[in-house]
Amino acid sequence: MARHGRDAALHLYHTGHAAVDGLAELVDQLQLDEARLRLGGHIAAAHTPHALAGLQATADWVKRETGSASVKVIDAGQVRELTGSALFHGGLLTPHAGGLHPLNFARGLAWRLHERGVNIHVNSPALEVREADGRFVVRTPGGQVSARQVIYATNGYSDQTSLTASLHRRLIPFRSAIIATEPLAPALLASLMPGGQVCGDTKRMLRWFRVVGDRLIFGGRGAFGQHDSASAFGTLQRSMAQVFPQLAGTAVAFQWSGLVAMTLDYLPHAGQLGENQYYAVGYNGGGVAMSTWMGKQLAAMTAGTPVELGLLAGKGFNPIPLHGLRAPACAWRRGGSNCSMRSGARGEHESYCITGYRVASRTPWSRRPGPATRSARAGTGTQPRPSKAGRQGAALWTARVPHRPGPGVRWGWSRPVGWCSRAQAKSSGSRPARPS
Ligand SMILES: Cc1cc2nc3c(=O)[nH]c(=O)nc-3n(C[C@H](O)[C@H](O)[C@H](O)COP(=O)(O)OP(=O)(O)OC[C@H]3O[C@@H](n4cnc5c(N)ncnc54)[C@H](O)[C@@H]3O)c2cc1C
Repeated sequence: MARHGRDAALHLYHTGHAAVDGLAELVDQLQLDEARLRLGGHIAAAHTPHALAGLQATADWVKRETGSASVKVIDAGQVRELTGSALFHGGLLTPHAGGLHPLNFARGLAWRLHERGVNIHVNSPALEVREADGRFVVRTPGGQVSARQVIYATNGYSDQTSLTASLHRRLIPFRSAIIATEPLAPALLASLMPGGQVCGDTKRMLRWFRVVGDRLIFGGRGAFGQHDSASAFGTLQRSMAQVFPQLAGTAVAFQWSGLVAMTLDYLPHAGQLGENQYYAVGYNGGGVAMSTWMGKQLAAMTAGTPVELGLLAGKGFNPIPLHGLRAPACAWRRGGSNCSMRSGARGEHESYCITGYRVASRTPWSRRPGPATRSARAGTGTQPRPSKAGRQGAALWTARVPHRPGPGVRWGWSRPVGWCSRAQAKSSGSRPARPS
């Protein structure tokens, strides 16, 4: 609010509510029972006392500015009762939230459109959009479509073709992953999320969980780069055991992941790329309700109806500084990560930043042994650099970019590229990638 003012903050708050309401209305209107929407509430679980203070400030703000006492701060004991985890310092309970089955929701929407005569062409990447006679011709590998208007809704997949390069430059794709446990014994199951809420913690790279049927599903950061990795799922499983020690020996039955899209200002954006060309992207990992709401706004825009997007309009949707370095940075980091695994130091920590988007460590790096882990630090930029030998060969690929403050993190500069000596990278079988 300090940055954008009270009105913008209130607009965002009401937009969030409208997004949840709009989703519920759509599910109801189209009778999407298969989406299994349940608005049982959401718990934001504070991972530090500082984060809890932030949640308290949020609750105070909501009460003061909207008069609503619906969001409620709960203490550590209440979070333990409602989640089954003793890890958290307290939390914020928001009743107007919940969960659904996203694949069933998407399939349900597709089916209802099909029933209304709308053609959907899957596996047909749009390769080119060209204007001809006042219309657009969208070329795909298998044919072309003529359209009066075009909407780009490619989110974390905006790099699939060069068509959406201008959007991709404004987004950081990030892999988000989920694991689902094997069916749990009834007594254990009953102790987890007994109130039926869904829960996410307050870490910047949040972890979230809920009970679905007789399993717990647990989500968090996935692998870096374009592909899943067994080690990222392993990290997620260890993270689950940290939150729920009672699940330490529980097998994971399913795991999957996908790309979400981060933006510099943490907000989704919609607008026009040109006349009759529209976009909506950048949900920062939370787009199920918001992308549905954005879809409605885009529909209005294409019909010529003015919409008030506030901070979610195109203004402020800026290119990511040094975007071209991001992929090499991830590749490099993978090298560093291998090195650190070799030194046995890979752990639960949020570890480093990627260009323009901070994933900050809240664990003192001094506790992390091994040159690669020591040196792959991110954050305030105040920690000592690795030794000259450790830097050798890596300095070329380093860059410093601004990051934003968050709980426990100051404004500052981060290195998007981990440090690791050439020798280490070589011995671990990985090679640093040069930015092109
Ligand atoms: C593991 C995981 C867990 C998540 N959990 C939550 C959650 O709990 N709550 C929440 O709100 N959100 C969650 N999200 C985020 C949510 O799924 C996204 O915000 C949402 O899917 C965004 O919808 P979208 O339609 O904008 O983009 P997407 O669903 O990413 O769809 C973009 C599509 O564009 C296609 N595409 C790209 N380029 C082209 C082209 N040139 N031509 C044709 N098609 C193209 C892609 O193939 C893709 O299918 C999660 C995401 C993941 C991966």
